[in-house]
Amino acid sequence: MNISITDRFRVEDAAELYGLDGWGRRYFAISPEGRLQFQPEGQPDRQIDVCTVVETLRERGFSAPVLLRFPQALGTQVDTLAGAFAAAINEYNYCSTYRPVFPIKVNHQRSVVEGLLRFGQRHSLGLEVGSRSELMLAAALDTPKDSLIICNGFKDAEYLATASIASRLGKRVIVVIEKPFELEPLLALARDGKPIPQLGFRLRLQARGSGMWEKSGGFASKFGLTTAELVDCLGQLKEHGLLDAVRLLHFHIGSQVTEIRKIKAAVEEATRVYSRVCKLGIEVRYLDVGGGLGIDYDGSRTSSDASVNYSVQEYANDVVFGISEVCEQENVPHPIIVSESGRMLAAHHSMLVTDVRGVISGVEQSPPRLAGNEHQIVKDLDEIYREMTVKNFRETYHDGLEYRDQMHSLFRLGMLGLEDRALAERLFFAIAVRAVAHSKTAKFVADEFLELETKLQDKYICNFSVFQSLPDHWALDQLFPVMPIHRLDEPPTRRASLVDITCDSDGEIDKFVDPRKIKGALDLHPVINGQPYYLGFMLVGAYQETMGDLHNLFGCVHDFSVELDRNGEVRTTHTSTGETAAETLRCFGYSGSDLIEQVETRLQEAARADDMSPEEATGLAESYRRQLGLYTYLDK
Ligand code: PLP
Repeated sequence: MNISITDRFRVEDAAELYGLDGWGRRYFAISPEGRLQFQPEGQPDRQIDVCTVVETLRERGFSAPVLLRFPQALGTQVDTLAGAFAAAINEYNYCSTYRPVFPIKVNHQRSVVEGLLRFGQRHSLGLEVGSRSELMLAAALDTPKDSLIICNGFKDAEYLATASIASRLGKRVIVVIEKPFELEPLLALARDGKPIPQLGFRLRLQARGSGMWEKSGGFASKFGLTTAELVDCLGQLKEHGLLDAVRLLHFHIGSQVTEIRKIKAAVEEATRVYSRVCKLGIEVRYLDVGGGLGIDYDGSRTSSDASVNYSVQEYANDVVFGISEVCEQENVPHPIIVSESGRMLAAHHSMLVTDVRGVISGVEQSPPRLAGNEHQIVKDLDEIYREMTVKNFRETYHDGLEYRDQMHSLFRLGMLGLEDRALAERLFFAIAVRAVAHSKTAKFVADEFLELETKLQDKYICNFSVFQSLPDHWALDQLFPVMPIHRLDEPPTRRASLVDITCDSDGEIDKFVDPRKIKGALDLHPVINGQPYYLGFMLVGAYQETMGDLHNLFGCVHDFSVELDRNGEVRTTHTSTGETAAETLRCFGYSGSDLIEQVETRLQEAARADDMSPEEATGLAESYRRQLGLYTYLDK
C-alpha cells in the first residue's frame, strides 16, 4: 500500500495497513477519531478506548510502558474453545465430553490464572502443571468441580507427595509419566502400601508438529515414552497390580502448530495407541491432545510461522472427528477429550503499550554543499552523487562504497581531517539514499538495495525492553502485531524499525507482520515535540511475561486489568505497580539499604575531605535514596 501525505487517509486505510482484519479480527477496531478500540467480548458495541486508558493512567502517575490486560477476553477465548468442542461433539455424535485445561506455565500471573478459572467455571476448566511449584499452586487454587489437574514435567518423590496432597483435597489429579524412571517412586509408594495417584502416560509419537516448536514432537523429542517404553511401563504396573491406576494418554507435538494436517496425523496415531491400550483391558478414560492450537499473529491464515492455516472450529472438528473415527474402527469407547491449549486462551487478553522517546533519523534532507577546498576524496564522492542516474545507479553506488572505504583508511592514517570525514560521510549517505530511490524503478530490486533501504530507515526509540516484555521476539524471532494506538486517522508518513532502551543491539524489532509478507519497517507518524506517541504490541498474553528477564535491570512493567461493566463503563480491576530499581537489584542479591549506606559513607567522606559541602552530600544521598524507589523505565 502506498500512502502519500496528500492522499486522504481514512481509518479504514489504517485498519488495512496494520492488518486489523486479520490478526485483530473480533477484538480490535478503530474509532472515527483514529483511536484503537479493544472489544473484550468480541462485540463492536462494547469497546474500550485503549489510548484513553493509557492517558488516564498517566494522569494517575503511571507512565508507559504499561501492560494492559482485558480479563473479559480470557472468558471470550475459553467460551470460544469450549464452544467449538461442544459444536464438534454435537456434529459428529461423539459419545463423550471435553475438558479443557490451562497450562499454567503460559502465564502464571495471579490475575490471569484466577480470571481463567473464574470464566472457565462453566466449562470445568482445569490446570496443567509442569513442576512441583506449579502443582503446589494448582493444589491451593479454587479450581472448578470436575476439572482436572494434569501433572506433566519430570517427577520425583516430593512431586508425588504434592500430588497426593492435591488428591486428598478432592482434586482430580492425574500424574503423567514422561520418562520410565518416573515409575520407580510410584512403585515405591505401592510397595509401602501407600495410595498411588491416577496415572497417565505421555506418548512420543512419530507425528511431529510444524513451525518454530516442531522439535517438541517426533522420535528425537525430549519428552514422552516410545512404544517399547510404554509397553514396558504397563508391564511393570501389571506386575504390581496397578493397571487400574492408568487413566489417561497424552501427547504434545509442540506449540503454535501451523498446519492442521500435523494435528490430524498426531490425533490419529495417538488414538490408535489409545485403542490398543484399551484392548489390553485397561480403562483409559481420557485422551489428552496437548497444546499447539496456534494463533494467527500475522493475519494471513497460512502455515507461516506467525500464523495457522486453520480456525479454532476446524481444530476442534478434526480432533473430535479423528478420535471418533479411529475409535469406531477399533470398536473402543470414545474417551473424554482433554486439551492443554495455553497460547490460544491467553495471547489475546493483553497488550503492551510503550511510548516513543526519540527518533534516530535515517533520511538526511539534502547533501552538503562543498566550498572547494575539501580533500580530493570528498570531491570525488560529491561527483559520484551528482552523476548518479537511474541507469548507472548500481555502478556508481559501488564506486561510492569504494571511495567511502578509502576515506576511512585515509582518516585512520591521519591524512584526513574531522570536518572532511563528516562531509564525506554525509555525501555517502546521500548517495545511498539516491541509489535506493533509483533501485525502486527496476522490475526486480536486488537484495543489496533492499538491505540498504532497511539500514537507512528511521529507528524509533521505544521506552521498553524487548528482553523483558517480548522475549520470544528476541530469542525466536517470533512476530507480534505492533501499531500506534492513536492518530490512526492521520497518514503515517515515516517508516521505521523499533529499538528499545536496553544497551544491546539485539533490543530491536525490524520485522513486522503483514498478511502478504514480513515487513522490514513499520509505517509510523512523525513524532510531535511535547506530545506522547504510543505504540501497542498486541497478543502478548502467552509466554512473554514468564520468560522475560531483567536485562540492564529493566524490571516488570506496570500491569493493569481493565474491564467493562454492564453499563459500558471502563474500570481498572487490578493494579500491579512496575518494579523499582531497588526491587530489580534485590533479585541479584543487592539490598537497597546496603547500597544507600555505601553511598552515604562515601558522600560523608567526600564532605569531610572538603570535596563537597555537607548540604550537598545530604542532598545527593537523599536523591539516591529516592531514585532507588523509581520505576526502572524512562520517566515521563
Ligand atoms: N502442554 C504441554 C505439555 C506443553 O509443553 C505446552 C507448551 O509447549 C502446552 C501444553 C501449551 O501449548 P500451547 O500454548 O501451544 O497451547
